[in-house]
Amino acid sequence: MNTELLTCRSCGAAIGYKDTHCPFCSSPIRPKRKLSAEQKAELKPFIQTVEERLTTAKTRYDGWVWAGFMVGILLTIAGYFLLRPWVESGFTLVVFTSLIGFGLFICVGALVTYFENRALQQGYAAGIGTDIDAHLEVVQVYRHEFDLVASEQLPPKAFLKRFLFLQETSVLQTAPKQ
Ligand SMILES: [Zn+2]
Repeated sequence: MNTELLTCRSCGAAIGYKDTHCPFCSSPIRPKRKLSAEQKAELKPFIQTVEERLTTAKTRYDGWVWAGFMVGILLTIAGYFLLRPWVESGFTLVVFTSLIGFGLFICVGALVTYFENRALQQGYAAGIGTDIDAHLEVVQVYRHEFDLVASEQLPPKAFLKRFLFLQETSVLQTAPKQ
């Protein structure tokens, strides 16, 4: 098994398993070695566990999401009764009420997306990320290699995909390095 530590191609600094970028010159780390079938098989259940933990982390704000939808529905109903004395035509009233409901639905949808992202980032920051780092150290696999295997293994909508350093859209790509 190839266990030698990598050095940065740009500046020669020693690279740790968890490094996605060189700690000195910030060059992206892309190891060229191929993982063995055993190494990949070893990663699979771990990747599955990480995805399950992120799925659990995401449910953290579920109560608030439901509360948001309930408030949206109540406000729409309230809007109907508030507008009723002011609007003569029944058709106009339905149109106005629908517009209020639609607007609130868009707002709640945006909040759901925001809180979902926040819950995932908090879960990742609260231990999932460091557990990945620790596991990479144990199995002697580099983060980029882990990301490639995870990307191949997981379905397109998997939560872990937001934390892989493969595309520019990664959630953590722009986050400050700890
Ligand atoms: Zn470097």
